[in-house]
Amino acid sequence: MIKGFTRFLKSPGEHLRSLLGPEAAPSGPAAPRVIPRSEHPVSRQHFSEPALKVLYRLHNSGYDAYLVGGCIRDALLGLMPKDFDVATNATPEQVRELFRNSRTIGRRFRIVHVRFGREVIEVTTFRGKPNDDHANHIAQQADNGMLLRDNVWGSIEQDALRRDFTINALYYSIADYSIHDFANGVADIHERTLRLIGDPATRYREDPVRMLRAVRFAAKLDFQLAAETEAPLHELAPLLLQIPPARLFDECLKLFMNGHGLATFRLLRHYGLFAMLFPAADEAMAELPWAEAVIEKALASTDQRIQQERPVTPAFLFAALLWGPVYLQRQQQEHDGLSPVPAQQTAAQNVIHRQLKHVSIPKRFSMPMRDIWDLQLRLPQRRGKRVFQTREHPRFRAAYDFLLIRETAGELAPGLGSWWTAFQEADEHGQQRLMAKADADPNAPRKRRSRRRKPRRANPEQ
Ligand code: ATP
Ligand code: MG
Repeated sequence: MIKGFTRFLKSPGEHLRSLLGPEAAPSGPAAPRVIPRSEHPVSRQHFSEPALKVLYRLHNSGYDAYLVGGCIRDALLGLMPKDFDVATNATPEQVRELFRNSRTIGRRFRIVHVRFGREVIEVTTFRGKPNDDHANHIAQQADNGMLLRDNVWGSIEQDALRRDFTINALYYSIADYSIHDFANGVADIHERTLRLIGDPATRYREDPVRMLRAVRFAAKLDFQLAAETEAPLHELAPLLLQIPPARLFDECLKLFMNGHGLATFRLLRHYGLFAMLFPAADEAMAELPWAEAVIEKALASTDQRIQQERPVTPAFLFAALLWGPVYLQRQQQEHDGLSPVPAQQTAAQNVIHRQLKHVSIPKRFSMPMRDIWDLQLRLPQRRGKRVFQTREHPRFRAAYDFLLIRETAGELAPGLGSWWTAFQEADEHGQQRLMAKADADPNAPRKRRSRRRKPRRANPEQ
């Protein structure tokens, strides 16, 4: 994988890292270690046609062009890169002129997206230090140290030190196919260590999402966090409360839908980060013995499906993450006099309302999530037409999988899940037999007798 590479590892005394603190390098950023093509294993075969096209067009137009970040890191680790980030000294406007199929996105971080069919190549202009006095730039930093805008153009050396982790600051040059290592990332790849560039607390304050990225890469790559990178996490976790919920939603997809969701979840909890994203779920796990298992099993099944290249939906995962809170709220509503269906609807509304303040959930996912929850109340009803209506519901399959998870997590005694398994496999006669059996089941819900409703308390929780 990265054999023949070790001679590029620095001796400890030679480490650049000590130069990379915020107060460091008065003489400017250090020169990179350049690894020629003959001495590293990354070839153009690791990269997609569109990525190469973008690199060559920039290069042939006289600009510097490099692949950077995850794609080089992953290629060095023997993984197939999943997307490609290009760094260049061309400004976004100059990049746009070269590619008709492009558009500029982002405010905090202006990026050009060049589209080739379904593939998008992200092109960023080298960024400089936000505090430098620079013409033609927009950089803003809040009082708490958070970067609000980061669009100061700079040199490749400066760009490298603005990146988050040493292993993400590796640049592959299309001019001579060499790799430029600015922060000793190759050594960290070799040691399987995730290390922030610069002073960790400062870098987390600049952008608290880096805390989530640390955990995500550690889980995905099976790397250890360097001690100094790990140390501030607990204390700084609450900074995530300042991040816009829409950005955290995007980040959550990357955290949980990357094939290593379960490992990521455990690390997030370990560092106190999970409670900042899903506070109600965190509370429910403390109260309900099965709530954690529901989430873990949903994540394990998502990981497995991704591995098998089967489709996954965030709706299912969010349904699992928030099921504990919905359960607690429903109990509360029923206690206050609502019957099960309206109790669950009110509970769902309250839980979503609170969650949206932390991590947003777009309607296209929250609607199916609610369907999965609602169907949990319908699955126990196994009489008459209802059974077939439930079976034909577009979200039946997800709701059935969800039911199985609730059973294996210990929320429900087993039984209903296998009934539905059998029902799906049975022919018409078999289905009739199963329905008759359900009829005789003393645990099956009876038709609800009308009962006097207790008056509802004004202003239920939230
Ligand atoms: P992957 O695409 O596999 O999730 P990646 O490292 O490519 O991993 P991206 O989000 O695609 O991650 O970002 C591309 C590169 O941009 C990173 O490798 C890193 O160098 C830089 N980067 C991204 N987000 C940040 C951030 N919040 N702070 C500093 N640098 C960042
Ligand atoms: Mg990437």
